[in-house]
Amino acid sequence: MSAGTALPADDTHVAGNYAPFPVRLVHGDGVWVHDDAGRRFLDLFSAYSALSFGHRHPHLVAAAREQLDRLTLTSRAFGNDQLGPFCDALAALCGKEVVLPMNTGAEAVETAIKAARRWGYRTKGVQADAASIVAFENNFHGRTTTIVGFSTNPAARCDFGPFTPGFRVVPYGDLDAVAGAIDETTVAVLVEPIQGEAGIIVPPNGFLAGLRRMCTEQQVLLVADEIQSGLGRTGRMFACDHDGVVPDLYLLGKALGGGIVALSAVVGDWDVLGLFEPGSHGSTFGGNPFACAVGRAVVELLETGRFEQHSARLGETLHDRLRALPSEWVREVRGRGLWAGVDLAPTMPPARQVCEMLLDHELLVVATRAMTLRIAPPLVIDDGQLGWALGRLTDGLAAAHKEASR
Ligand code: PLP
Repeated sequence: MSAGTALPADDTHVAGNYAPFPVRLVHGDGVWVHDDAGRRFLDLFSAYSALSFGHRHPHLVAAAREQLDRLTLTSRAFGNDQLGPFCDALAALCGKEVVLPMNTGAEAVETAIKAARRWGYRTKGVQADAASIVAFENNFHGRTTTIVGFSTNPAARCDFGPFTPGFRVVPYGDLDAVAGAIDETTVAVLVEPIQGEAGIIVPPNGFLAGLRRMCTEQQVLLVADEIQSGLGRTGRMFACDHDGVVPDLYLLGKALGGGIVALSAVVGDWDVLGLFEPGSHGSTFGGNPFACAVGRAVVELLETGRFEQHSARLGETLHDRLRALPSEWVREVRGRGLWAGVDLAPTMPPARQVCEMLLDHELLVVATRAMTLRIAPPLVIDDGQLGWALGRLTDGLAAAHKEASR
């Protein structure tokens, strides 16, 4: 079977903002998915961590079903009985006071930008409309016009301007550059504790702790975008935990919706999130009872601590096995827990082509950069499944190397 590269024939009315791999998935169960040609794949991608609990986790599907039979949407114009318990549970999981629920990750980022600016004007005393936020080169925080305005990826920005002012972009990992960018107008530093879309880039030791110190000293909010890195993915609840850092705001999304619904949240304390009064911010779908019921079931799973422990333990196997791959295939492996960026050796085919070849080895893998594979299985993967997937990955990389050397 050769996967080929053509788009499925009946997707002709689908806008072309994605270049999907030539598989049409029809069924998922745990770490496995099936396509309409009857092929089975092990999902080493997990929809950018949104499927951290695998496909159709029984506890989450049960919560969703139960809520579907009761109440799905109210808008925030009325209360619902799921919102409060979800926010209580998530706040406790994060060790914070308040949760502001939204839907997509980008909306959580936008919410944090607004919150930080408000806090800057009302609490820090920044001059009107002068607030600045420090962000990092190679960041990925979503796709709105404000967010892509401070992206350094030309493909994300090209012909989408003019962009929102108020952002200063400095090299990731460079504390001196952050210090140079902070002044009396600075209200926040917005950071991915591990840069996901950039290639699973783990910052230098001490970087996050340094940011925390600097932000506290300079009266600046530390905003951690844990939308992809959080909720057990790296072997701790939050990637910030590896460095003993507690940000002022956590941005969560993806896995929070259990692979069932779009659910994101900004989590912090009243001194910042309390600055939103009615009418200042909102979302028709944010905090809807269906998403909250699923989100609460997600928090129930996370509260057990099992997922982060499992990710830490299997992550060691994952990284050991990836690091043992021949240097003619793999140049570098980065990451934490069940999350790895694998830089292919320059003599290998481009990562996209390697991913297409891996379909023939029953694996779903997606590239981040031209020569980087991203490995992020659902956190429910077991030892046997991981061993099987790594065996298939090894076979696939060997085949790709052979192809490239022909
Ligand atoms: N922040 C990070 C770190 C992400 O990785 C992403 C998506 O990949 C987002 C924000 C945006 O999330 P969404 O696609 O749900 O808007």
